[in-house]
Amino acid sequence: MDIQIIRSRRRRKTIQARKRNHCIEILAPAHMTDAQLQPHIDSLVKRIERHKKASTLSHDDLHKRAQYLNRQYFNGSLQWQSIQWVTTQNRSYGSCTSTRGTIRISDQLADMPTFVQDYVIIHELAHLLEPNHGPRFKALVSQYNLAERARGFLMGAGFGPEEEE
Ligand SMILES: [Zn+2]
Repeated sequence: MDIQIIRSRRRRKTIQARKRNHCIEILAPAHMTDAQLQPHIDSLVKRIERHKKASTLSHDDLHKRAQYLNRQYFNGSLQWQSIQWVTTQNRSYGSCTSTRGTIRISDQLADMPTFVQDYVIIHELAHLLEPNHGPRFKALVSQYNLAERARGFLMGAGFGPEEEE
């Protein structure tokens, strides 16, 4: 990705980025050096790349996987409104709003092994029946025999459970 830095004397503090054709323009105050700008550029490029990745992930494949796991672990009894990949800023791997039946899976999981992705999908599906992480919830999730291993993997990658809603 091409990055062009445009410095302006009129700009005081804020750094701004805009896409122009295939290039990213960074608008920066005149007094900022390249070294001072570098961390901002790094995090910006990371963010853009993650958005790009998220847009290539298939919501449809995710939905199909969830349907498969629904049949496998919940007798096909679950219904939901939507299940989608999302770009999250924090280290939570997913979320489920059980009242609305909307499930969101972090796109950071897309690079992880399938057994970890399956665990997270099962975890969020189980929330459709049990909003909290009580004993009934644990019983549902532990039907998946790789649950413990997947939890260990996620913890090792620095992921905590989703924020409670
Ligand atoms: Zn949970």
